[in-house]
Amino acid sequence: MKTAILPSQNVSISDSLKNKIEETTSIQNSQPPFKTSDSIKSTTWDYKNWENDLTEWDQETYENLVAIKLTPEQEARVLEPAEVFSRQETVVALHWHPEFVPMEMIRKRIDATFPNKTRELFIPTQHNQILSYDGVYSGVEVDCFAPQFQKKVQFLIHFENSKLVNGDVFKSMCEHTRNYRGSQLFELVASILDPRFDDRIQKAASVTAADDDLVAFVRWGTQKFEKLFAKNESRTPVDHIRNKLLANYFDRLREHFEDRQITRAQAFIRAVKKIVKKEFNPDYFYRAEEFIEETRSLGGGIIIPHPEQFWPILLADYDVDGYEVWNPQSRQYTEFLINVVANQNKTHNGRKLLITMGDDCHMGEKVKDPKVQNREKSSRQIGVQPVWDDLIIRKSLNLAGMDRDRLIDEYTARLN
Ligand SMILES: [Zn+2]
Repeated sequence: MKTAILPSQNVSISDSLKNKIEETTSIQNSQPPFKTSDSIKSTTWDYKNWENDLTEWDQETYENLVAIKLTPEQEARVLEPAEVFSRQETVVALHWHPEFVPMEMIRKRIDATFPNKTRELFIPTQHNQILSYDGVYSGVEVDCFAPQFQKKVQFLIHFENSKLVNGDVFKSMCEHTRNYRGSQLFELVASILDPRFDDRIQKAASVTAADDDLVAFVRWGTQKFEKLFAKNESRTPVDHIRNKLLANYFDRLREHFEDRQITRAQAFIRAVKKIVKKEFNPDYFYRAEEFIEETRSLGGGIIIPHPEQFWPILLADYDVDGYEVWNPQSRQYTEFLINVVANQNKTHNGRKLLITMGDDCHMGEKVKDPKVQNREKSSRQIGVQPVWDDLIIRKSLNLAGMDRDRLIDEYTARLN
């Protein structure tokens, strides 16, 4: 059933949002300036007396933000492993995001991290983009919608490469999802600039205790960002058209403003983003069943990542291969989840549920200047899921009949 979405709708969604932003900007320009006081101080710039026109700095900064080629310093940050696991022989990584970092550089980092590995399974899972690391398997993390519990959910989907030869429908589903998810950036920008979304601004301001000054500052920066994006849209790689881009632009403003001010602006933007995500219309996502059906028809495997972010999914009885029981964002219920899987496997006949762990490493984070890195995110490493070796967890894993080697055995057997 592929009736949910016509590809032509892609265009209209983002176009209408962009129009919305254009309308917004003209409304903004005809309005009196926001009420401000002197509490926001720039070290070098005075944003209140500062023209809203784009400067050379803006343009350069933007180009740099969306650049694909890494600088030598960035390359060095990627190549230097954070930690070396010289005794680990089997490495498995079924949930990680290369982002814009070239696979060859990632390979060098992985090899340096696990110099003595003898067995491995690495499948990248970029958001809504199918990629391969080893030329044998490919993967993707898809966003979809579960109508039973009215929630957006995610799946990790893996294929042995030859299965994708007939995967045109699957590929276009991923592409549609990627474009649609990218349109959240336009909605985020509109939410900050468009008076029609004032309730979102009020809500975000009260959550983060942002005052009028801060809101005015964020609007000022976002307006500039919106202009930059409009001007540079054709040279902005699709991968970069996501919420993060606005936050990254504000990060660069640290060059001109006090850290504290940018940090507060970031918190406010995050709060707006949360509201946008929550209220984002899910009707244009494919339904979870549609992704499952298409994946199964091609012979791919499906893992539910960090289920504790959407518990009901465990009761949906989806046709999946396994659950991720550990993720840097979800580590509280690992033992419990392992036992759930073990119990389900005892009572279920048919295919057993596998147990996986996701390091959920985002390689783009490592490229950033350490000063602006998100510590928690940048500490994640591809293939590093220490809980496999935790003494207590290992007991549960043993009872469930699972470890890294058995996972590779069973999952590759299913994929091949
Ligand atoms: Zn992920």
